[in-house]
Amino acid sequence: MKKKIAILIIASIVALIALSAIQAYLIANTYELKKKAFIKETSNLMFDINDITELDSLYNTWGDDLKNHIADYLNNRISKDEVVIRLKKQADSLNPNYKSYFLKEQATRNLNYDVDFKMNIKSIVILDRLKNDTLYSSANKTKIRLFGDDFDEAESYPVNTSRWFSEHDFIEQKGTEITTNSFDLEVKTESIMLIKGWRHIVFGRMASLFIGSVLLFLFVIGLMYYSIKNLITQKKIAEIKTDFINNITHELKTPLATLSIATKSLQKEEIKQNNEAFSSTLNIVERQNERLQKLIDQVMTNSLSSEEIVLNKEQVLDNEYFNNIIEDFKLSKQHNNLTITNNIEASEIVLRLDKFHFETALFNILENAVKYGVAETEINFKTELKNGQYHLYIKDNGIGISEKDQRLIFDKFYRVNDGDLHNVKGLGLGLYYTYQIIKAHNGSIHIESEVNKCSLFTIKIPVN
Ligand code: ADP
Repeated sequence: MKKKIAILIIASIVALIALSAIQAYLIANTYELKKKAFIKETSNLMFDINDITELDSLYNTWGDDLKNHIADYLNNRISKDEVVIRLKKQADSLNPNYKSYFLKEQATRNLNYDVDFKMNIKSIVILDRLKNDTLYSSANKTKIRLFGDDFDEAESYPVNTSRWFSEHDFIEQKGTEITTNSFDLEVKTESIMLIKGWRHIVFGRMASLFIGSVLLFLFVIGLMYYSIKNLITQKKIAEIKTDFINNITHELKTPLATLSIATKSLQKEEIKQNNEAFSSTLNIVERQNERLQKLIDQVMTNSLSSEEIVLNKEQVLDNEYFNNIIEDFKLSKQHNNLTITNNIEASEIVLRLDKFHFETALFNILENAVKYGVAETEINFKTELKNGQYHLYIKDNGIGISEKDQRLIFDKFYRVNDGDLHNVKGLGLGLYYTYQIIKAHNGSIHIESEVNKCSLFTIKIPVN
C-alpha cells in the first residue's frame, strides 16, 4: 500500500510536470502568435502613413536636390561620399517639417500606444545600359534616414518598401563643351517602426490567459494534494481499524478459551460430585463472563465522542476527590513496583465534575503510566490553580512517546506500533476516551514527552 501511494505521488508529480511543460509550450506559442498579430496590426495601420499629399512637396524638394547632387557627381565635381553627406544634411533639415505632418497623420490612426517611425534609403543607383552605378547602398556603414525618428533598429519591424524610377536631364560640361544629357535613377526605400513597450501590450492582451492558467494549475495542484492526503488518511484509518480488530480478537480469545474449558469441566461427573471444584469452576465462568462484559462496556463507552457523552456533574472538593482517586489507584496496583508522589493543592477548591467519567479518564492516564512504564515506575501527580483554571499534571518516568505519535495518541484506536509495545495489551481507546471526557468538561489536555525518559500529561479544566 505504501509503495502504491509512493507510485501515485510520483505519477502525479510527473503528470503535473508534463502538464506544466505542455502549458508553458502553449503559452509560449500563443505569445508568439499574439506578438505577430499585434505587429501586423500596427504595421497595417502605419502602412500608408507616408502617402499623404502634404508630404509631396518635401519629397520633391529632396528629389530635386538629389538630381542636382548627381549632376555634380556626373560632372566630377563631387565624390559619391559627398553626395551621401549632402543628402543626409538635406534630409535632416527637412525632417522637422516631416515630423509635424507625420504626427498629425498618426493621431488620426487611433493608435493607443507610441510608435516611432522612419523611412531609410536602401539604395540609389544611376541606371545605365552598359553598367549601373551604385551611388549608395544601405550595406554601406552610413545609413541615410530620409525622414522620421532616430532610433536603434535592433527591436524594430519593417512596415513596407518602395522603389522609385525617374529620368532626369542635366547639363554636362566636358572641358569647354556643354551638352544636355540625361540619366535614369532608381531609389529604393524601406519604412520601419519601433513600437514602444510592445511586450507590455502583448502580455496585457494575454493577461486573462495567464491568470486562467495559473488558477487552473493551482486548482489541479490543490486537487491532487487533497486526493493524496485523503488517500493517506484513509490508509491510516484502515490500518488503525485492522489493528483494533486484531487487538479485540486477541483480548476476546483468552476469556472465551477459558470459558470453553470451564463449561466442559462443569459437564464432567467428577466435578459435579466435588462441590468445591464445582463452585471454583463456576467462579472462573463468572469472572471470565465479567471480563467479557467489561471489554464490551469498554468498547461501547470509550468509543463515545464528547457530544454523545451525557455528563452528570456534581460539586466536588478537589483535594478530597483527587486524593481518593490516587489512593484507589495505589490499592489496585499494590503488587506493582510503583511509587506515586502526590502534590495536591491543600486549598479546598470546588469543581463541577462528572465523578465517574472524570475518575475513569484519570485512571486511563495512570494505568498507561504503569503499562508503558519501566521496572521502577514513578508517577508524580500534581494540581494547581493557575490563571483562573484548574491544572492537573501527571508525570511518569516511562518509555515516553515520540513527537510524531504525540499528535496521534488521542485519536480513536491509535496505538504506538514500534518497539515491543505490541506485547502490551490495549485497544487504543483509553486516551481517546480521556480526551473526550476532558473536552466534555470544557477542558483541554496535552502531552509533553521525551522518549525513554518521561511523559507529562497536563489537563486544564475551568473552575466555577
Ligand atoms: P492503549 O493503551 O489501549 O493502547 P491508549 O489510548 O490508552 O490505548 O494509548 C494510546 C497509545 O499511547 C498507547 O498504545 C501507547 O503506545 C501510548 N501511551 C499512552 N500513555 C503512555 C505513557 N504514559 N507512556 C508511553 N506511552 C504511552
